[in-house]
Amino acid sequence: MAKQTEIVTSSEDEVFDIELEADILKANRELALENHAKLKENGITAIDVMGSVGSGKTSLIKAIVSLLKATHRIAVIEGDVTTTIDADIIASEGVPTVQVNTGKECHLDANLIKKALALMQLSKLDLIFIENVGNLICPAEFPLGSDKRLVVISVTEGPYMVVKHPMMFHEANSVAINKVDLANAMEVNPSNLKNDISRLNPKATVVSTDCRHMVGIREVIRSLGLT
Ligand code: MG
Repeated sequence: MAKQTEIVTSSEDEVFDIELEADILKANRELALENHAKLKENGITAIDVMGSVGSGKTSLIKAIVSLLKATHRIAVIEGDVTTTIDADIIASEGVPTVQVNTGKECHLDANLIKKALALMQLSKLDLIFIENVGNLICPAEFPLGSDKRLVVISVTEGPYMVVKHPMMFHEANSVAINKVDLANAMEVNPSNLKNDISRLNPKATVVSTDCRHMVGIREVIRSLGLT
């Protein structure tokens, strides 16, 4: 009898967990819509940049900022579990940067972006890049209110990272395959990665990049409609 009670309790907890998760995702979507409206009121385009730790998100944002900062008023929101390393790198481009540390959380959410936007002079901006926490799983579920999603992958992550993380690519507008200068050394064929992405999301624009040598950066900018 006691055993049966245990099973029933466990099942109820499970249902409760699912409902709680649905509530969190719904609340996040509503806040994302608020963020989006606030950005539009100020005429700002926002790009959410996602990808694994070490894929080159910060390097790509820095490269894009270096090419666009003369013609666009840009700011960057830097999401990381801890440290201001990436924010310091971006700030070296001379654009306003807000660091958001998520502590234990593996992704940014719309509430964190709402707080970051409150710290920024939105009337003085045209374009905001939001670098998400390095992770190919959790950020996909949490829209932030951005206009477009840019996913960064790199050949150093091996040949299977696209097929293993399909969720991340379904919603992407653009995907950068980064560090292509290292493709031969890694024995990874960027064309295979591109085919994997196109199978998951035929609408995504896929660009090969090498941020160290500024290869492909203007193509990424074009793919995001920022020229
Ligand atoms: Mg980074």
